[in-house]
Amino acid sequence: MNYISTRGGISPVNFSSAVMMGLADDGGLIVPQHIPNLAKEICSWSDLNYNEIAFRVMRAFISEDDIADEDLHTIIDKSYATFETPEVTPFVKQQGVYIQEMFHGPTLAFKDVALQFLGNLFEFILKRTGRKLNIIAATSGDTGSAAIQGVRGKDNIQIFVLHPFKKVSPLQELQMTSILDENVHNIAIEGTFDDGQRIIKDLFADLDFKGKYDLGAVNSVNWARVLAQVVYYVYGAVKLSAQNDGKQVQFSVPTGNFGNIFAGYVARQLGAPIKTLILATNENDILSRCINSGVYELGAVHQSLSPSMDIQVASNFERYLYYAMSENPDLVRESMHAFKAQGKLDLREFLDGSFIAGKGDTEETLSTIKRYYDASGYVLDPHTAVGVFVAEQLADKELPVSCLATAHPAKFPDAVEQAIDSHVTHPSLEVLKGGETRCAKEIANRDAIQAYIEKTLA
Ligand SMILES: *Cc1c(COP(=O)(O)O)cnc(C)c1O
Repeated sequence: MNYISTRGGISPVNFSSAVMMGLADDGGLIVPQHIPNLAKEICSWSDLNYNEIAFRVMRAFISEDDIADEDLHTIIDKSYATFETPEVTPFVKQQGVYIQEMFHGPTLAFKDVALQFLGNLFEFILKRTGRKLNIIAATSGDTGSAAIQGVRGKDNIQIFVLHPFKKVSPLQELQMTSILDENVHNIAIEGTFDDGQRIIKDLFADLDFKGKYDLGAVNSVNWARVLAQVVYYVYGAVKLSAQNDGKQVQFSVPTGNFGNIFAGYVARQLGAPIKTLILATNENDILSRCINSGVYELGAVHQSLSPSMDIQVASNFERYLYYAMSENPDLVRESMHAFKAQGKLDLREFLDGSFIAGKGDTEETLSTIKRYYDASGYVLDPHTAVGVFVAEQLADKELPVSCLATAHPAKFPDAVEQAIDSHVTHPSLEVLKGGETRCAKEIANRDAIQAYIEKTLA
């Protein structure tokens, strides 16, 4: 399997090269040359465990002469051994919906599923090639700590993480700045997540800088992250379908950067028994508006109770556009340039009904957390609550729905306390409080960040 760019400007590369490239060199996103159809095989996977399903899904996207079976098994097993349960993303049933808990990894958010894998994959590829890697990333909160946990202490890797100063939760900040490994560099920028994401994009677009410093990406633009996430949709779909008379499954996905739900789209194309993907946003609703009106249009970023979804420009959306535009890279490139110039794109002729979408605001988030808590004592985090709320509005009641629980509630104690007047904790967070931290502060400017990276690596 080889990989190409949504904008058509790179020659095909294998999986390892695609992973090391991060963002495609022509500014587009990397996609597989084709998505295989495994529908026949997938229906027989319902008795397999998580790691075995991971192996089979990933094998379909990675050539054996790139990563051999044994190595791929080792990378997968090592990545998911850090989770609290061998099921990796176990289900609980609450009020008639399945909650697929994605938060049993080291940082208590779903991003660990992809970033534990990516860290081990980087280590494997670098060892083989004798190269070094400098990872640069922007985070709205959860990516940063998950990426840091994925690569901390690993040979040949340095990581620089930009987070918007005081715009991530205090615990999220601690989860990043408390990691004191020498290869970890946190930078607080005076700006928003979108500023950080733009700086990272600009640095990657500077091919001289990218080449000179061996830059690598861990943001959800990295194809390996999408691939690791495809696994839990396939896993969830086969398990729930088997438990529900072979019915197709729906997923409700609290969405920000469109990385998570795009993996659901790939799982559906791959032939997993998925009927619909329910896209749930908070007040930052560019994507739910787009799915419902066909017009992709920028708005201002609002701070909400679910900060990991406080995003307007969703970088992975371009991957979906590529498929919606019948894999026509010229059309994608023109559209993305038009969007950059005008802040608006009319997609009415392209959207294909793969998604349905809705939004949950602050009040709906709080009341959903409270309702579930009152009914059974189960506590939803505010991101998950948005997905659960939207699923209640939009899901087909005849089919099972998996609501992806993207974070443990203890990561967002203020929102939870506002909802249920009770404090939720987790031991792995308690131990961080009051400990030593390390973090730089810079203005939200590409040159300032470039200078910081050059100085640190000198
Ligand atoms: C990152 C994140 C999201 C949004 O996921 P995307 O892939 O950016 O759409 C939702 N919830 C939590 C808890 C997250 O960390």
